[in-house]
Amino acid sequence: MKIAPWLQILIGLALAIVVGAIINVTCAEPAGATVLLNETGQKFADLFGYIGALFIQALKMIIVPLIFTSVVVGIARLGKADGFARLGLKTLGYYVMTSFFAILIGLSLVNLFKPGLKDGQPNAAIKAVIEANTADFESTVSKKVGDQDTRSLNSVSQIFKRMVPENIFAAFSDNGQMLALITVSLLTGFGLIFVGDAARKAVLPFFEGINELTLLITNWVMVLAPIGVFGLVAQTVAQTGFGMFALLAKYFCVVMLALAIHLLVVLPAILFVLGRVKPWKHFHAMRNAMLTAFSTSSSSATLPVTMRGVRENSGVSERVTSFTLPLGATVNMDGTALYECVAVMFVAQVLGYDLSFAMQFQVVTLALLTSIGVAGVPSASLVAIIIIVNAVGLENSAAVIGLLLAVDRLLDMSRTVVNIFSDSCAAVVIARSEGEETKLA
Ligand code: ASP
Repeated sequence: MKIAPWLQILIGLALAIVVGAIINVTCAEPAGATVLLNETGQKFADLFGYIGALFIQALKMIIVPLIFTSVVVGIARLGKADGFARLGLKTLGYYVMTSFFAILIGLSLVNLFKPGLKDGQPNAAIKAVIEANTADFESTVSKKVGDQDTRSLNSVSQIFKRMVPENIFAAFSDNGQMLALITVSLLTGFGLIFVGDAARKAVLPFFEGINELTLLITNWVMVLAPIGVFGLVAQTVAQTGFGMFALLAKYFCVVMLALAIHLLVVLPAILFVLGRVKPWKHFHAMRNAMLTAFSTSSSSATLPVTMRGVRENSGVSERVTSFTLPLGATVNMDGTALYECVAVMFVAQVLGYDLSFAMQFQVVTLALLTSIGVAGVPSASLVAIIIIVNAVGLENSAAVIGLLLAVDRLLDMSRTVVNIFSDSCAAVVIARSEGEETKLA
């Protein structure tokens, strides 16, 4: 009997939750210890982490040639500059519109439920935990930011500065430089529309060949997905301390509810109204990609799977997917934008700030801009949140942000699903607007 790939991944995920939970419980150190797991538990967690890291690395290995060749071939095949301009405008329009909707949902719910307050006052229990652990939380934040190699990314302008690489090979060799890679790819593709026939004929078939090859290798890597997913999720569950969950339950639920509304109401409505397709068919088509996004917490690493799903299952042309999806994986992050907004408002509530309308507007704008600029990697929002709290002047916020990290992983996994699903909806909606049939009718 052959088990469908998505079911294999789901089984890997379910097993991981069971095994991870067993280790989390049986190998736990007593409360108050500096580490969560005893030595045996840690060994298991490391082993799972190792397996997961191999899977993520295998996916990452594909993304640079995949993004480059997809975007170049996609644009060059548009043939005329006006086709590129039309598709570009539609794509950007969609990305800004959906991210904005997502932020508005987050902002409304965080203002409605006020997860940082209790009886109208900053939540005293949360404040007490923060005061008792300030140094710990602050060091977690700076370590995480350091891990991400953010190279002093402390303002929006710096994020965007990375769009223009000093050296194109740096853009290819560094996985953190996705925006730079997109710039190089866009320029190359656009250039191929205008360059002479001889040059185009010499290089375009080569890029087309590499593009086909990377998709084939993606298929091979995905055979290992159930094992990779098992490793990633088992490690996460084993290492997650559940102690803080109760304290942050309201915050956690607000983020989850907002993400769910965007994923299950707003995006399907857009598919239905603008794309005139059946949303549930698209959910079905994207099941592998959504499970991979959930397990890896990285839209970039999921890109090969997203592309496969949208092309093969939803039936969107190469012409549209190769333009919209690589761009979307870096630039369009609805879940991230929504999350940034809720997190910043939560920090403000806990610290006792009452943000004015103008300040909230600033949070919305910055959430939109930073969600475009941050990379599609785990915990990337953290950098953006720091940029926003600094910009709106929330002092002493590092410890509060550190506390949020205690429950971040599951939220990260969930917002990454929203991020890639929104990209895939863009491809469908734009394909339909270009007169394509798709397989979702
Ligand atoms: N992990 C997210 C992604 O890759 C980014 C984030 O919100 O941290 O899409």
